[in-house]
Formats: sequence, structure tokens, C-alpha cells
Amino acid sequence: MAQPVTLSTKKYDLYIDGHWRPASDGATLETHNPATGEKLADIAEASQADVDAAAVAARKAFHGWARTGIPERSAILLHIADVIEDNLDYLAAIETMDNGKPIRETTGADLPLAVDHFRYFAGVIRGDEGSANVLPGNLLNLILREPLGVVGQIVPWNFPFLMAAWKLAPALAAGDTVLFKPSSATSLSVLELARLIAEAEILPPGVLNILTGSGAKSGEYILKADVDKLAFTGSTEVGREIARAAAEKIIPSTLELGGKSANVFFADADIDLALEGVGLGILFNQGQVCSAGSRIFVDHAFYDEFMGRVVDEFKKVRVGDPLDPQTQMGAQVNEKQLDKILNYVHIGQEEGATVAVGGERLTEGAYGKGAFLEPTLLADVDNKMRVAQEEIFGPVGVVIPFKDEDDVIRMANDSVYGLGGGVFTNDISKALRVAGGIRTGRVWVNTYNQFPAGAPFGGYKESGIGRETHKSILDAYSQTKNVLVNLNKKPGGFYVEG
Ligand code: NAD
Repeated sequence: MAQPVTLSTKKYDLYIDGHWRPASDGATLETHNPATGEKLADIAEASQADVDAAAVAARKAFHGWARTGIPERSAILLHIADVIEDNLDYLAAIETMDNGKPIRETTGADLPLAVDHFRYFAGVIRGDEGSANVLPGNLLNLILREPLGVVGQIVPWNFPFLMAAWKLAPALAAGDTVLFKPSSATSLSVLELARLIAEAEILPPGVLNILTGSGAKSGEYILKADVDKLAFTGSTEVGREIARAAAEKIIPSTLELGGKSANVFFADADIDLALEGVGLGILFNQGQVCSAGSRIFVDHAFYDEFMGRVVDEFKKVRVGDPLDPQTQMGAQVNEKQLDKILNYVHIGQEEGATVAVGGERLTEGAYGKGAFLEPTLLADVDNKMRVAQEEIFGPVGVVIPFKDEDDVIRMANDSVYGLGGGVFTNDISKALRVAGGIRTGRVWVNTYNQFPAGAPFGGYKESGIGRETHKSILDAYSQTKNVLVNLNKKPGGFYVEG
């Protein structure tokens, strides 16, 4: 049984210009363990003055950081990866305590994926050799990548550390400096990362600034700050505000937003892969995944058999102490989120859905202290219902039967979102037809919710703009400088005779 770890402090300050300092107005927020209800620490809430001070520091640091040689920047990213790996168990335990996600996920997925992310971008930038050619008129065409400047990055609470890696690794690799805001619900792991980076003196002061605080205050201040790009992961609602703020400033933004993804199960699927696929889709991270396979479309030819098996599997899922390595599902992130999820179960029932399994809060014994929910499936769902159209963001899947490929593609596309999706079948041609037919940024075939660096991830439609976890994101953290060099020995004859 993993034990709670002792935090390096009970009061976390802001990290600005290489120094730790309290908020200028002394404001703090509390962060709690959602599995026990215990207060973990106070975190500073950045004021406008703090955000502006960080922006000045980041601007000052940019000139040096942008000129750091690629091999040196790459080595720095590798050093960050090593520091995370050396402290993996500690950081994973903090993530589990602050978020409620099971330790088997933080040690097995979130943290190792974050390590790999820094290594991936350390490698990618070494391979970028730019490009040059000679254009008509004997002009040497040099295409150079230059960093954008200071970037404001804001992330949600569902994968606090991994989302930090998705944002920080490419921005630092590209040569940008950063104002980074985690969610106020889950700031501890990235604050600990900043502490480790500071102690090892890996980054020059001002390159990385951590501005904790609420979205309504500290987040809004970042939107107003002197930044050259906004990068956001979170809800579609707040994403619109980010896009508006970027439009006002005429700066780019990348948006990774919500989803209501279709996970499609054909009768010819391998049953064990399919059963695991349902769980990976809607129970991973307590269902608090933007790409969750939350609409479960089942071939009517094996609906009854499949439902029977899935319900049995859901009843066996071990919900419990997130620090216990045996636990498969931990706590929801907080009471507010739990209430929102339970309210959706209620809405579904009012719409005519039935609870096939789960649907209740767990309250017995130790469960009573935390925000624990049963793995839940709603049956008798129509794709038009609110529970099939709105993001629930919890371990609640809605199950909808389909007749054939065309039927399921039509329903899958009947959504404002287009982030993830899954197809389970042993027929590769069918898998590719369905993958091609669904308007979504990522389709898994015979698996779900895998996030390796090197595979681009991002949304169609209201699920966002831009792709992360792939080298193409470097374009969104850079701009192109073109230099045209005249290779002719003599003038061209326009104004001066050659
Ligand atoms: P949220 O949009 O409420 O908050 C996300 C971040 O934005 C937080 O740091 C928050 O403090 C900040 N914020 C909130 N209001 C703000 C404002 N007015 N100005 C500036 N910043 C503000 O989302 P959440 O509840 O933390 O996370 C859940 C959402 O995130 C879900 O919709 C989920 O689908 C989405 N998400 C998307 C991806 C993806 O890659 N597409 C990944 C994870 C989560």
C-alpha cells in the first residue's frame, strides 16, 4: 500500500523570475485531497501585478532563451525529463493525493508519459534542420523557425502534470518563455516540478513562471497580460473566452477543449479487447477525460450479450483509496464535480434512460470521506438526449444501439464535439471506413485513451483548434522568418543597368 507523501511545504508561493514569492495582495486558496477531504496546502493566488511581473520577467528572459543553441535547449529538456523520472514516485503520489486519480495511473501513465514528452521534444528539435532552396530569379530562399516570445498557458485539473508536460515541453523546445497556470484544484504537482527544476538550476530565471490561482482572477489576468500566444486546455466555454482574448490582441491561440466521443463496438469485435475498451474509454481517470468514450455505440446484433458482459465487468471494478495500487478507480476531483455528474444521471433518468449499473455515490466507511462514485452505464438512451450530447466528465457512459455502419457514423457525427473516438472490430477495412467517416481528431482502433508522444491529438468542431503531442505543435509555438538572398552578381535591370 502506497503511503501519503509529505509535501515540501504547506504553503506554496508563486514562481516568478526564478524566485518564490507570495501573491502581492497576500491572497491564497486551499487545495484538498478529494479521497479524504483533508486540506493538503495553501497556494498563492496570483494578482494582476504578479502576472504582469511574470510577463516582464518572461520578456526579459526571452532574448537569452531564444538564442540558446538547439543542442543546449535539447539537453535542458532531457535534464527536466531525468529530474521527473528520478522523482517519479514522489510526484505521482502528490498527483494522486491532489487529484484523486489512482496511483496505478499516475505511476503507470501520467508521469511516464510526461517524462517521454520532454524526451520526445528534446529529440525532435535536434532533427529540425530548417530548409532552403533557390527560387526563380536566383534567389536563395531561407526558411527559418523563430520562437514566438512569451506564451500564456492555462490547463485543467484532470491531468495536471501530463497537461503541463504537453504545454511546457514544446514551448521550451521552441525557445519561448512561459507564464503557466495550473487549475486551482490541482496545482501541487507542477509546483513541485518547478521546485525541482529550480533546485537543480536547470532553467535561467524568467523562462518558466508558475502563476497559481483561480480562473476568474489569475486566469483572466493572463489573458490581459503582455503575451504573444495563448495555449489553453479546458472547457469549450472558457475556450471561447481565450479565443476572444487572442483575437483582441491579434495573437495566435491553440485550444484543446471538451468532447463527447463515440466508442463503437461491432459484433465481430474481440470481446476481451472490447470489454477493456469500454473501461479504458469511460472509467480511465474516473471518466474525467476530454476524449472519454462516453457515447458507447453497440451493434444491435450483440447488444444484449455485450451489455450483460459489460455490466458484470463494471460491478467488479475496484473503486477505493487512490494510493492503493490495486485501486482501479479513485475519487472524483471534488464535490462540485461529483454533484454535477449525479445530476446528469438524474437528468438521464428524467429523459427516459435507465441505470444499467452504478449511478450512486459510495458512502460506506472510508468512502464517506471522499468523492467516490460507482462506475455507471445508462441504457435506453437516444443520441438526442442531453446525456448523449453534453459532456458529463465522470464515469458515466451512455449506451446506444446501432443498425449498421452508416447508422453509427451518422449518430457519431451528431454532436458539436469531435475530439476522440474508438472502433472495435476484427475487420480492418470496416475500422478504417468508420474512422474515416467520423469527424473527429483521433480514432483508436481496438484500444482507447492511449496518448503516446508522436501521435497528434486535438479536436475537430467545438473540441478545439490545433494539435498537441506531436512535432507539428512546434509550428504553433514558432513563427517563420523568411530571408531571400540575391545570388546574382549583377543588378536585374529594373533601375540600374546590369
Ligand atoms: P475549465 O475550462 O473550467 O478550466 C480550465 C483552466 O482554465 C483552469 O486552469 C481554470 O482555472 C482556467 N480558467 C477558468 N476560467 C477562466 C477564465 N475566465 N480565464 C482564464 N482562465 C480560466 O475546465 P476544467 O473544469 O478545469 O477541466 C475540464 C474541461 O477541460 C473539460 O471540458 C474537458 O473536456 C477539458 N479538457 C480538454 C482536454 C483536451 O485535450 N481537449 C484535456 C483535458 C481537459
